[in-house]
Amino acid sequence: MSAPDYPGTGLTMYLILGLVHKYCMATVVGGAKSVTNAMIACLKHHGGELRTGVTVEQFFGGGGRIDGVITDGGEEIRVRKAMVANLHPWDMGRMVPGIVKGIAARAAAVKLSEYGAINQQIALSERIQWIGGEAYDEAILVECMEPDWENFMRPFEAYRRNEFPYDVLQPLGGPQSNFDPSRAPDGMAALYLYCFAPYQTEDGWAVDKQRAGDALFDWFCKFTKNIDRLKTLKRLIECPEDHNRHSRIMRRGDIMGISMTADQLMGARPTPELSQYQIPGIDGLFLTGCTTYPGGLATLGGHASAMKIYQKLGINLKTGFTNY
Ligand SMILES: Cc1cc2nc3c(=O)[nH]c(=O)nc-3n(C[C@H](O)[C@H](O)[C@H](O)COP(=O)(O)OP(=O)(O)OC[C@H]3O[C@@H](n4cnc5c(N)ncnc54)[C@H](O)[C@@H]3O)c2cc1C
Repeated sequence: MSAPDYPGTGLTMYLILGLVHKYCMATVVGGAKSVTNAMIACLKHHGGELRTGVTVEQFFGGGGRIDGVITDGGEEIRVRKAMVANLHPWDMGRMVPGIVKGIAARAAAVKLSEYGAINQQIALSERIQWIGGEAYDEAILVECMEPDWENFMRPFEAYRRNEFPYDVLQPLGGPQSNFDPSRAPDGMAALYLYCFAPYQTEDGWAVDKQRAGDALFDWFCKFTKNIDRLKTLKRLIECPEDHNRHSRIMRRGDIMGISMTADQLMGARPTPELSQYQIPGIDGLFLTGCTTYPGGLATLGGHASAMKIYQKLGINLKTGFTNY
């Protein structure tokens, strides 16, 4: 979620090569919601209760310990052993009683990514035939990039000005049904289309969502032999305003929660003093989610928070982690 000229982004190339070499690319059968559903089933299997549509407005406690939460409905829920929260650093000063002022101030200064995103889920009446030939059928994601540096950088510069670059677009397309046939009937296709986009501003998203979505789709079609608007059966477009509405973590539409730049990764995510999945001086509360390491990606990063919780509660890691 940064332009290639942003300092430290070269790290990504080494990271992606290593990851792909070791783990390969994969898609989730049935869509990413299958991961969430699997975790819900696991939680329920172990006697847990899941409640959605409830916002935690405030933590309560005292003497350096969090005792529970207060919901938007005014309900108090008390902690038994520990609380784990996907808490945006910007909210810590307001939500966590007793937090050291300097820690809250440094958390509030954490940076967002450079851009937001616009994505589309598209049902197509035909499978894609790429102008590049059948070899592209093996690609899980195809980035339709400009070959020369000046054009390549133009959209990134437009996003920085909070504009949508209709004259040069660089969508990324993923015909997911090529790898997961459950997503489309035979002969048809399910396409994921993605692109960077300017952020939501305080007055909403300054870009016309439908116009931007149409422009991206039309641009993408130029890289295929057979796809145009007549081949779309259904299309869902989501923009930074939608991402911000879907998740309190995705401020202004930052799909990574906070920026994934080198200065906010590893032992510096979200800040050096918060990187150990706890707030110094506050017991009973553990941090997790995309604003903690390994960060804003579908990395199943809760693993790291869980290890920390096991260690702090004196639970043997071998009882929960098969690798130890
Ligand atoms: C369009 C798009 C494309 C993406 N592409 C990729 C990709 O290709 N690869 C990749 O790895 N990642 C991708 N991501 C990023 C990835 O999806 C996120 O980084 C990841 O979902 C973050 O997980 P999370 O559990 O930390 O946060 P979320 O998935 O945002 O879940 C946090 C949940 O906690 C809730 N919450 C927060 N605060 C409160 C509160 N106070 N009270 C109650 N509930 C609260 C939120 O509402 C939300 O439901 C993409 C994201 C988007 C939107």
